Amino acid sequence: MNEILNMTINEMPQTEFDCSCGRHHNFSVHDMSIRKGAIEDLPKMAEPFKDGKILVVYDNHTYEVAGRKAVQLLKDNGFNIKELMFDTGDDILIPDEKTLGRILQEQDLDTKLMIAVGSGVINDSVKFVTSRTGLPYIIVATAPSMDGYVADGAPIVSHGYKYSPVAHLTYGLIGDTDILQTAPQDLIQAGYGDVVGKITAITDWDLSVKANGDYRCDTCVTLVKRALDKCFDKAEGLKSRDAESLGALLEALTLTGVAMALVNISRPASGAEHMLSHFWEMDYIARGLNPNHHGIQVGVATPVIARFYEELADILPEGTGELCPPHEEIEALLAKGGAPISPKEIGISRELFHESLMKGYTVRPRYSVLQFAKDKGRLEQIADKITEEIYG
Ligand SMILES: [Zn+2]
Ligand SMILES: [Zn+2]
Repeated sequence: MNEILNMTINEMPQTEFDCSCGRHHNFSVHDMSIRKGAIEDLPKMAEPFKDGKILVVYDNHTYEVAGRKAVQLLKDNGFNIKELMFDTGDDILIPDEKTLGRILQEQDLDTKLMIAVGSGVINDSVKFVTSRTGLPYIIVATAPSMDGYVADGAPIVSHGYKYSPVAHLTYGLIGDTDILQTAPQDLIQAGYGDVVGKITAITDWDLSVKANGDYRCDTCVTLVKRALDKCFDKAEGLKSRDAESLGALLEALTLTGVAMALVNISRPASGAEHMLSHFWEMDYIARGLNPNHHGIQVGVATPVIARFYEELADILPEGTGELCPPHEEIEALLAKGGAPISPKEIGISRELFHESLMKGYTVRPRYSVLQFAKDKGRLEQIADKITEEIYG
C-alpha cells in the first residue's frame, strides 16, 4: 500500500498500487529521466516507435537549447524524423486554433510519435493534438516553468477563451538539468511561482473535502508536500541557476503532476490561485496583449488567496486554516526564489484585480475558498479589503 512514497521520481513510471484512500492508483507514464545529461536517453525512450516517422516540434528558442541536440541524437541513431519550428520572434506563442492546426497539418499518416521540445505552450499544444489523434508524445523540458509535464489537462485557447480540456499523459519525460540551466530567469521564476501555488491548492482541496464533501487522497498530499519542502529548501539557489535547485524545482513540478495523474483530478496542483491567474490571462489575451507567465501569476496570487483564508479564519472548518501559512510567509518564500510577490508588480491593474477576486470562482466549476467566501456572503467585503491593502 502507498508504495509510491518509497520511490525516487525516476522509478515511478508504470507504477500501480492500492492506496490508503481506498482507490487503486495507476501511474501510466512509461518513462521519465530527470538528471544531468538526460537528453542522451531520448533515443532509447523513442526506440519503440522507430518503425514510423517522428515529428519533432520546437520553437526558435527551444531549438537552440535542446532541439538541435535532440534531432542530432535521433538522426545519429537512425530515426526517420520530420521537424516543425514555430518562429514567433520575441512574442509568446499562443496555443490557439492556428498553432494546434499547424501541428495537425504536419502529422503524416506514418507518424508514430511526436516529441515536444519546449515547456509551456509547445508541450500543451503537442499534448492536445496527440491526444485527439491518438499518438504518444515525449516531452523534452527546456525550462522548469510549469507543472504541465505530467498532467492530462492541456490549457489551450479557443475563440480567445482559455480553458483546459482533458488530453492525455505524456509517454515519456526528459528533464536534463544541463538544459534547464539555460532557461531564462523569468521561466525559472514562473515554475517556482507555480510550485508556491500548491500551498493554497492543497488548502483548497482540504476545504472542498470538509465543506463540499469532495474526495481526497492523503498519499498524494504527502507526495506534493515532500516535494514542496525539498524545493523550498533549495529555493535560494534558483537565482544563480544552481543545478541541484533546478532539479528540485523540476522534481516538485513533476511530482505534483504524478499526484494529479494518480487521482485523475488537478486538485493536488490547482486551487483558487490558479483561477485568479486564468482570469488575468484571459483578460490580457482578450485585449491582444502578451500575458505574464502562468506560474508568475500563480505565485503572486498565492498570498492573495492566503489572505482569504486569514479573513475567513473564524468560520473555516477545523484544521483547514492551519494548512495555509500566513501570507507574509508565502511572500518571503517567493522572494527567496527570486519571484515577484505582488500583482501590482507584474502589471495587473486595480480594476482587473478586484474583478478577478469577485468573479474568479466562475472560471472553473470547482469549489474553492472564493466559492466559500461567496456562499458565506463575505466575498465582496474581503475583495474590497484586499484590493485596498495592495493598491491603496
Ligand atoms: Zn499551474
Ligand atoms: Zn490514494
